[in-house]
Amino acid sequence: MSAKNILVLPGDGIGQEIVREARKILDWAGKTVEINIEEGLIGGTAYDETGTPLPEDTVVRGKAADAVLLGAVGGTQWESLDYSVRPERGLLGIRKELGLYCNLRPAQVYPQLADASTLKKEVVSGIDIMVVRELSSGIYFGEPKGVETLPNGQKRGFNTLTYTTSEIERIAVRAFEAARKRNKRVCSVDKANVLECTELWRDVVTEVHAKSYSDIELSHMYVDNAAMQLIRDPHQFDVIVTTNMFGDILSDLASMLTGSIGMLQSASLGDKCALYEPIHGSAPDIAGKGLANPLATILSVAMMFRHSLDMPEQANQVEEAISRVLDKGFRTADIAMAGEKSIGTVAMGDAVLAELP
Ligand code: NAD
Repeated sequence: MSAKNILVLPGDGIGQEIVREARKILDWAGKTVEINIEEGLIGGTAYDETGTPLPEDTVVRGKAADAVLLGAVGGTQWESLDYSVRPERGLLGIRKELGLYCNLRPAQVYPQLADASTLKKEVVSGIDIMVVRELSSGIYFGEPKGVETLPNGQKRGFNTLTYTTSEIERIAVRAFEAARKRNKRVCSVDKANVLECTELWRDVVTEVHAKSYSDIELSHMYVDNAAMQLIRDPHQFDVIVTTNMFGDILSDLASMLTGSIGMLQSASLGDKCALYEPIHGSAPDIAGKGLANPLATILSVAMMFRHSLDMPEQANQVEEAISRVLDKGFRTADIAMAGEKSIGTVAMGDAVLAELP
């Protein structure tokens, strides 16, 4: 097996802490496979050092790497900056620069954590949903956008929702392909009753389905109903495919079904590059306290092993190690039940490492 090149971008806040734990897992894998790890800058930390949240050097090295591992970006100290240099611009920018248009966000409930969800155990037990979110277009990128002052002195803010046929086709293909490896059901979420752009979304998804994926069951749902159905009966979903903004919101909602945002990994894939990251942010409220749950980031590494590095065995080993850690009752504060003892970020990373062969 040829050497694997990974660019690690810890970013801001708890990003630094959780990525440190994930690197322990990369070092473990490095005992059997040659892995070269480089570290780079992104987000507020990058802005402080270089004046931009996405240095060119990070983009160049990200494009050359087999995969990128990202912690999180953002923090209150950068909130007064102009939008163009905010940490979050670094994240949107790297997704765009690396051509990452497909965000896979699995939401699975570990049986050991079914009680940690705010929903009833019988509603969430056994759920296994894959949210496929379009990542490089839609309202987060559409032009024109901005805030203007009208002649009457009022301000008017505007963003533009756009999708082209090919942008919808390629994300639909990813969703149908994912469903083929799962339970063969895709629910496409839109707001076709109100937004013309998502009427096109619905038409194109239907066409892609008819052309090549008749073995997959396709349904359509309006986003408001989807939010309700995710809470009412999450078991009805297998793969959900949706636009950038709807996917952003629904995947956070799905995350809470699983107990904690600190347990959820994600992959952002393009035709050439791939970036793996936990779905949560930089959690300024707990940053620097050693409390963050590193499991979403460690699960992101497992996803990287499976999807980008051709290391499915190591991916399984990491996932099984996490399951055993949970069996043994180790919990960070976000997944601990009231009165349950919890451990910190470093201890959780070490506990996973101790379960690996
Ligand atoms: P957040 O995900 O950072 O935090 C939401 C809540 O979840 C907080 O209470 C936090 O303590 C908790 N939480 C998050 N991750 C956790 C973990 N691993 N372990 C334990 N608890 C965890 O979202 P937010 O507070 O809305 O945003 C904070 C900053 O992060 C903002 O600057 C935002 O723009 C940024 N952000 C970045 C990303 C990213 O880098 N991908 C994603 C979302 C938000």
